[in-house]
Parts: sequence; C-alpha cells; structure tokens
Amino acid sequence: MSSDEILRASQAMENLAKMVLERRNAATVDEKMRRLDDLINMILQINDCHAKVDREKLEQSLLRQSVETVEKNHQQYVLIPVMPVQRKAPARRRQSKLQCSFCQEVGHTRAHCEKRLHP
Ligand SMILES: [Zn+2]
Repeated sequence: MSSDEILRASQAMENLAKMVLERRNAATVDEKMRRLDDLINMILQINDCHAKVDREKLEQSLLRQSVETVEKNHQQYVLIPVMPVQRKAPARRRQSKLQCSFCQEVGHTRAHCEKRLHP
C-alpha cells in the first residue's frame, strides 16, 4: 500500500467511526427525548392542562442550549414549550345529533341553518 492509499483508508475509517458515533448519539438523544416527552406530558395530564410538549421546539432549544428559565417566588423554573391539545369529540358528536327546527335536517341548529341564512 502506498502512503496515499494508507491515508485514504485511514480517512475512510475515521469517517466511518464518526458516522457510527453520530448515529449512536442520535439514537440515545432520540430515546431521551421520548422519555422526557412522556414525563412532561404526564405532568401536564396531572394538571389537566390540555397541552402537550411541543417537541420540535423543545428539541430546537435543547440543541441550541437556549432553554429559558424563569424565577418565581425565589424558585427557578425551566420553560418547556407546549401546544394545545384538541379536546375530544363528544361535544361534536352530541351536536351532530341536533335537529334543525327550520329545515328538520340533523347535524345543525336553526341558528346555523344554511337554508334559513342563504335561501
Ligand atoms: Zn336547517
């Protein structure tokens, strides 16, 4: 092997090692994120917040190491981005059984009746 080939081989090895390391780190970061996500969502559920972790934003701020903190009553808190969770369907299901007193169709009320509003 020429010194040139050796150099190229060692560079390839180095790149491969780097790739493996990066991938392993990515897997653990992913796993940690998932657990963190679950944990925070659990806390949010305890308080019935109707919110869940905004994982994308959380990841971004963790990667940039720009996690914000606030102080309240001499206690330091970490701010975690969350987004609202849509409430579940029962309300809508109930509404779909409503009958319109204007056109007698099911699924809307007189107030929202298209036939009444736009005849
Ligand atoms: Zn109607």
